[in-house]
Amino acid sequence: MDDIFSDEQIILDNAVLYSSELKSGAAVEKNRYDEIVKEYGRLLKQLRRVTKLSDRASGNLNTSKHDLLDKVHFDALTGIYNRRFMEDSLKRIIKSLARSGGILSLMMIDIDYFKKYNDTYGHSDGDVCLKAVAETLKGSLFRADDFVARYGGEEFSVVLPDTDESGARMIAEKILENVRTRSIPHEKNEVAGHVTVSIGITTSDVEHGHSWGEYIKQADKALYQSKQNGRNRYTFINFEE
Ligand code: GH3
Ligand code: MG
Ligand code: MG
Repeated sequence: MDDIFSDEQIILDNAVLYSSELKSGAAVEKNRYDEIVKEYGRLLKQLRRVTKLSDRASGNLNTSKHDLLDKVHFDALTGIYNRRFMEDSLKRIIKSLARSGGILSLMMIDIDYFKKYNDTYGHSDGDVCLKAVAETLKGSLFRADDFVARYGGEEFSVVLPDTDESGARMIAEKILENVRTRSIPHEKNEVAGHVTVSIGITTSDVEHGHSWGEYIKQADKALYQSKQNGRNRYTFINFEE
């Protein structure tokens, strides 16, 4: 940063110069003058110190703001978006799609028999598994506007703006396939020897006016059906059902 006290420094330099030019005959006045110049120099030094501290504090503040935004938007364990970000985005996306007349799909995803996974391999391996599943879900999306969030516990949601039923089904199939090929061992999973997930999907033209909460409720209903029908699958339901 440029020295914002450069003018003050010039005044001080000139004052020192002027003082040295004063005749020795005016010694008393010169002493008094030197004292004032010294005091001015001291104050200037102090001001520079304060400015430096304030710069540092403002830098720290920017870092804290960044950290805080991270905490507000991202899930600490998996590093993907958190529920709060997902819900805020869903509200924003519905508003924006309502203007452009778009379609929106939403997926709720839940790991099968995850309690048994924890019981078998321990909570810490459970955490590693959650991270791996989050990564797999993220890796199954390819459009810039699509995103996955950790909705809570071992439950995730995928938001697919401008995606119709067939597009959403395609993503669900990709997710099931990617989770299968990742093949995380889960010997107590009653439907396969590895970790599996169940998925619920719903889709609607935003112009029908369904709220973000209704999208979640419908996708949850579909997820429940996937669980009821044997897990490791996806179920699609319309709003009419
Ligand atoms: P279902 O197939 O019906 O989904 O059965 P489930 O066992 O997966 O379902 P349940 O809701 O009974 O269990 C969810 C488990 O997820 C229980 C909880 O301890 C575990 N869990 C939630 N959050 C975390 C976490 O952050 N880390 C770990 N390791 N486990 C978690
Ligand atoms: Mg659950
Ligand atoms: Mg579960």
